Amino acid sequence: MGTKPHPTHIGTMAKLGDWIDPQPHGIFVKPAGVWIDPSQPVDRALVTHGHADHARGGHGAVWATPETLAIMDARYGAQSAHPVAYGEQIAFGDVAVRFVPAGHVLGSAQIVLDHRGERIIVSGDYKRRADPTCAPFEPVKCDVFITEATFGLPVFRHPETGDEIDKLTAALRANPTRCVLVGAYALGKAQRVIAELRARGFDDPIYLHGALQKLCDLYIAHGVPLGELRPATEASKADLMGRIVLAPPSALGDRWSRRLPDPITAMASGWMRVRQRAVQRGVELPLILSDHADWDELTSTLLEIAPQEVWVTHGREEALVHWCATHQIRAKALALHGYEDEDD
Ligand SMILES: [Zn+2]
Ligand SMILES: [Zn+2]
Repeated sequence: MGTKPHPTHIGTMAKLGDWIDPQPHGIFVKPAGVWIDPSQPVDRALVTHGHADHARGGHGAVWATPETLAIMDARYGAQSAHPVAYGEQIAFGDVAVRFVPAGHVLGSAQIVLDHRGERIIVSGDYKRRADPTCAPFEPVKCDVFITEATFGLPVFRHPETGDEIDKLTAALRANPTRCVLVGAYALGKAQRVIAELRARGFDDPIYLHGALQKLCDLYIAHGVPLGELRPATEASKADLMGRIVLAPPSALGDRWSRRLPDPITAMASGWMRVRQRAVQRGVELPLILSDHADWDELTSTLLEIAPQEVWVTHGREEALVHWCATHQIRAKALALHGYEDEDD
């Protein structure tokens, strides 16, 4: 340590983005004195979206979109909250901050930071596909784009959403005495499955595990129509024949599902692309439905935004960093801790 001299050709010029300090437990914006998506409690946090790996409880004060704050309230109780609407400009010292849509889940935002003529964007999690439950990703030019890489391998190419939804309704029609039990994460995925079914004309009531009710109600309250939802717990086996039932993935194999009429077990997740994951979970009907950018979306977004540098927060970093190198974009992996797949 310390024996090798640092290269001197950089001179005294400030390095691009050196006012941002990526640490294992979050991204610290030094001149603003704020953290982005910290995994530990901090005095001042900017939060990209409500998934538990990005939004934790216990911060002194939180800046986020009104939807994200509502989600955090529902999960952690009332926060010391500062709502920031999409497009609204706020400032911390001489750092200008703006939240723009990330297309990931309700309220999800990229955080655009401007300081001393440099623009850095922290994208949080994002996708480019249409999603009836949230505002679409808004591409913004920047110098440094800080991106996720959850599905950052060329093998990950998500199929058409409509085709996956059609598989679900086809299984239902083919098995009128059974039900289809869909495992879906409580924030984002459950509401998207429902909204995509509605968009394809499926008007039957959809039955919910109790753990999904609160966030479905929150989406409805924020103007996302989900059609008729009924609690699965109050329904008889006969009621549930030929019905779609949604539950958190953890409930797929447990006692709770025994109340259901011979369920066809489905799971809605980008990971259903990986056969082994479907088999491990005992999933009969894998639905490849992701709220993250796939390989093509990641790389086409980088071409569109054309940043000078790409920093990769989490996921399969190596392939994306390599892709950047072959496209004359400087890139590095940040190896942040604690961002996991609640939200795949
Ligand atoms: Zn995440
Ligand atoms: Zn997420």
